[in-house]
Amino acid sequence: MCAPTVMHSVREEISRRGFLTAIGGAVAAAAVQTPAVAQQQNPVRLAKGFRDVHDLTHTFTAKTPVFPAFKPIQIKPKFSIAKDGFFANEITFDEHTGTHMDGPAHFVQGGLTADRLPAGKFIAPLAVISIESRAAKDADAVVTIDDVLAWEKQHGRLPAGAFVAMYSGWGSRIANAERFLNKDAKGTMHAPGFGEDVAKFLAKERDIVGAGVDTLSLDIAAAPKFVAHLAFLGAGKYGVELMANLNTVPASGATIVIGGPKHEGASGGPVRVYALV
Ligand SMILES: [Zn+2]
Repeated sequence: MCAPTVMHSVREEISRRGFLTAIGGAVAAAAVQTPAVAQQQNPVRLAKGFRDVHDLTHTFTAKTPVFPAFKPIQIKPKFSIAKDGFFANEITFDEHTGTHMDGPAHFVQGGLTADRLPAGKFIAPLAVISIESRAAKDADAVVTIDDVLAWEKQHGRLPAGAFVAMYSGWGSRIANAERFLNKDAKGTMHAPGFGEDVAKFLAKERDIVGAGVDTLSLDIAAAPKFVAHLAFLGAGKYGVELMANLNTVPASGATIVIGGPKHEGASGGPVRVYALV
């Protein structure tokens, strides 16, 4: 796991009201352009104020482990200050690379594309469920309904509109793509994820906006079918994969802010994710 990027600063000066007003303004502006998503002005219940901002995003690099279906990230300088007077890179990547979002349309025909998800869903109470100790012994470890119930016993029922993230400790492998993919002799990958039953439970029995993992997939890597993806995305929820630094934030009480992709027709795409603590 990378060292946490934690900014101690003047966050207290930004009142929750001011923060929400700013976001509300942006939402209102967006609603003028796209009346079809006017419902995104629903209020968001957040923690009162915050002191720290934690970065839950891995740096997007050519060495970032990538799900085998996708091509590796490429970043090359296109303009330089010495030659052109300004610096800019050209980057090429598939949507589901780096710390990224899965919109419902990624697995559901006719599902919402990421650019059309209401902005209000990207700011949510964050619940972190750790299965680190099990995952250390078993690469196929899954988040179970019992894990959710144990979390609720300690912290109370999952708040309305929560984002639920699995912390498995897999991020400690980020610098080594081979270890991250963790293929066995037959080429099957092994990494933790959500089970189908818990994904259905969270999507139907609780009021969540989305789910996240610190691995490459919402499903365990060895799953023959994308059952957790289908349970979450099929219920209109979104996913965030390859999250970083989830061990630096409290299991309950933080607010997640996700800078979702907004290119037209996005099945998903790289995101910058923060936790306000
Ligand atoms: Zn994805």
